[in-house]
Amino acid sequence: MKASLAKEVNRIIMLMLASLAAAVLAGHLWPLVAGPVLYIIWSTRQLFALYAWLVREEHTEPPDSVGLWGEFYTRLEHLFQQERRAQENLQGIIGRAQQSVNALEDVVVLIDRHGYLEYWNPAAGRHLGFRQEQDLGQPLTNLIRHPRFAEYLAKGDFHEPLELPSPVDDNRILQLRVTEFGLGDQLILARDVTRLHHLEEMRKDFVANVSHELKTPLTVLKGYLETLLATVPEEQGRLRRALTQMDAQSQRMEALVQDLLLLSRLENTEADQSREQAVSVHGMLKRMRESALALAPEKQQRIDLDLEQDADTRLIANPAELESAFGNLITNAVKYTPAGGHLRIRWWRDDQGAHFSVNDNGVGIDPKHIPRLTERFYRPDNSRVTHTGGTGLGLAIVKHVMIRHNGKLEIKSEIGRGSTFTCHFPVERIA
Ligand code: ADP
Repeated sequence: MKASLAKEVNRIIMLMLASLAAAVLAGHLWPLVAGPVLYIIWSTRQLFALYAWLVREEHTEPPDSVGLWGEFYTRLEHLFQQERRAQENLQGIIGRAQQSVNALEDVVVLIDRHGYLEYWNPAAGRHLGFRQEQDLGQPLTNLIRHPRFAEYLAKGDFHEPLELPSPVDDNRILQLRVTEFGLGDQLILARDVTRLHHLEEMRKDFVANVSHELKTPLTVLKGYLETLLATVPEEQGRLRRALTQMDAQSQRMEALVQDLLLLSRLENTEADQSREQAVSVHGMLKRMRESALALAPEKQQRIDLDLEQDADTRLIANPAELESAFGNLITNAVKYTPAGGHLRIRWWRDDQGAHFSVNDNGVGIDPKHIPRLTERFYRPDNSRVTHTGGTGLGLAIVKHVMIRHNGKLEIKSEIGRGSTFTCHFPVERIA
């Protein structure tokens, strides 16, 4: 460019010199004016040609020119070519991305920050019934009308996916995930989980049915064992020992069946609001403290009850479920705290909601086990099972009760130092 600029300057100087020479030879001034005027006319024509070329759709074949103007055209054409190539590349990438999204079996939906439909792939047509022309720009909640979906969107907590029946076929179950991006836009992914859902239902039904079927034979066995224990004379020590053990194990089995039945009821049924009432947690905890003291009197544990002095915060809850959850946590604290230990049961409210906690200075739990503790039958230390006599289902029951009460279970523990299990209830649950 610098060389062309120098050439152009040279050309102007030559023109001026030629005009000067012509003026001297002719003895007139007009050649001195004519040279620059000709140059201006030529430059103006170049300018018009450039404009005409720029306003054309395609910027190929630039006008012929020389000098700085020629260089100008060549560079501009080069820039246009680069831009065209970049655009073609980008279009290729967008095209391929769109093709792959279109080929997906899973639903992809884009909605803008006001909740209006912007884009969806063909799978959305199949699973959600979206129609290309009519539904573009419609509010998404007009098209997926399930109340749970509107609630899920309004809540804005998308950590857990949502399962819903498909709007086009009630027998198909879709799992939806929402991801937020940009300035409040949302990407919704949905997939058909009907098969998984059926398998899960089958598992739940199986557990519920087996537990139910075990109840009667167990009652009969227990009945006979009790009768036998009452009739076998003291002298038959070996037989009595065997019967006592059988009785203890049948009681464990009964507890297991009861817990399994309770758990499957908690899992399989929607929370029944007609069974909910304003529960006086104070009264409930006072009774539970007495039962906890009676649970292992030989351990001589201290159990403190720390309640709010001024107010008895009542909780809107299913009293039986609440008692079962709190009872499991208190029983565990008694079980996993050695003799002479100290337990503290607390109930309080603050601006986050209401909270129940049980703290003990017992054996504690290695933090690596905490995330899995609420899984059924998960036990950090299997050797303890035999002498604590638990079912391994207590914390799973607590977790489900908390889910049904829109609450959360928090576990903090340190091995050898003790544990704190806290149930957090939202403000809406306070009566
Ligand atoms: P389990 O019938 O075995 O007590 P849970 O579901 O109630 O079943 O508890 C699961 C496991 O969590 C227990 O086996 C125990 O290892 C651990 N755990 C529960 N509560 C406590 C506690 N307060 N202190 C120490 N470990 C506990």
